[in-house]
Amino acid sequence: MANAVDTKLYDILGVPPSASENELKKAYRKLAKEYHPDKNPNAGDKFKEISFAYEVLSNPEKRELYDRYGEQGLREGGGGGGGMDDIFSHIFGGGLFGFMGGQSRNRNGRRRGEDMVHPLKVSLEDLYNGKTTKLQLSKNVLCSACNGQGGKTGAVQKCVACRGRGMRVMIRQLAPGMVQQMQSVCSDCNGEGEVINEKDRCKKCEGKKVVKEVKILEVHVDKGMKHGQKITFGGEADQAPGVEPGDIVLILQEKEHDIFRREGNDLHMTHKIGLVEALCGFQFTLKHLDGRQIVVKYPAGKVIEPGSIRVVRGEGMPQYRNPFEKGDLYIKFDVQFPDNNWISPEKMTELEDLLPARAEAPSVCGEIEEVDLQDYDVKHGSAGGHRREAYNDSSDEESGHHGPGVQCAHQ
Ligand SMILES: [Zn+2]
Ligand SMILES: [Zn+2]
Repeated sequence: MANAVDTKLYDILGVPPSASENELKKAYRKLAKEYHPDKNPNAGDKFKEISFAYEVLSNPEKRELYDRYGEQGLREGGGGGGGMDDIFSHIFGGGLFGFMGGQSRNRNGRRRGEDMVHPLKVSLEDLYNGKTTKLQLSKNVLCSACNGQGGKTGAVQKCVACRGRGMRVMIRQLAPGMVQQMQSVCSDCNGEGEVINEKDRCKKCEGKKVVKEVKILEVHVDKGMKHGQKITFGGEADQAPGVEPGDIVLILQEKEHDIFRREGNDLHMTHKIGLVEALCGFQFTLKHLDGRQIVVKYPAGKVIEPGSIRVVRGEGMPQYRNPFEKGDLYIKFDVQFPDNNWISPEKMTELEDLLPARAEAPSVCGEIEEVDLQDYDVKHGSAGGHRREAYNDSSDEESGHHGPGVQCAHQ
């Protein structure tokens, strides 16, 4: 359910959403006086709005519904009688029936509370090995002293003045043949529709029917679970009278890992090797997510091209609910070449004799133009705005393809 912040009712009373009961009452009284139809016959709508806003916000249960679910919460849980649709449409726009589809009720017709959704950060190690963690949270539970009734059995009585509706309808005659129908908050029950005598009110919850309780949940993160996967604790969300509690839903948030990147059940990593390893084979040790040291071997005689990828089968992530099956581990090789002038000219000749022979250079005829290859830093190259003439870094490469010598050689 969307949880957009709706403060329209507070705006009508000109108070912030943090306003205390007293501040609400003061604001309401002031505005009600100002816009009362006796004084201000043209402000009937405004007066209705003020009354409605106060009716909701002065009732802790309705105020909570409104704070948490906004207008829709009131439509579903406010128990509006006749006339409610009018005032809803007036304040929020749209008709009551437009919202029927959005209601969540269970099979018994009881309203279902909102799910409490929390992110849960987990490391890749946790998802590889599985983990049990304890999570502490505070939630509303029905008051055990009064069984969620707010007072002794029988202490809660339907308000006689408003017949449990929380609102009273008054009809006043404005002129002969002209009547105005007004709704106002029932002053006997403060709009709650029910009354509990001060002395019968539950001491533990002060008539609020619910109390805060700290709950500790044991969370099992199973091997192979994924980013975004939900762990649900059915019916563990806030309790409220007459409402089926929603679920607590934890959504796994996989933390980034220094070495491994996960894709489904596969793991990807990059490993740096030198030119000698790329050409002459190598082995290296890798610490896996479960702490195992695995030795990765590549035999002499096999070559690793820069940027190429090799795979270790069965060393990826365990499958969820089938943890003995694992994905694969892909290793991309970053080949580090030696620095300029790393070898003496004599040795260079020796090396050339050892390396595969050069491809034969094509014969060149006619007019030729020789160009220099210069060092080029990808990060700073094209941004060097002052060097924009024909022979800048990038056109050096192009001249190799389009120079007259090459064209000639193709013929
Ligand atoms: Zn009443
Ligand atoms: Zn109680």
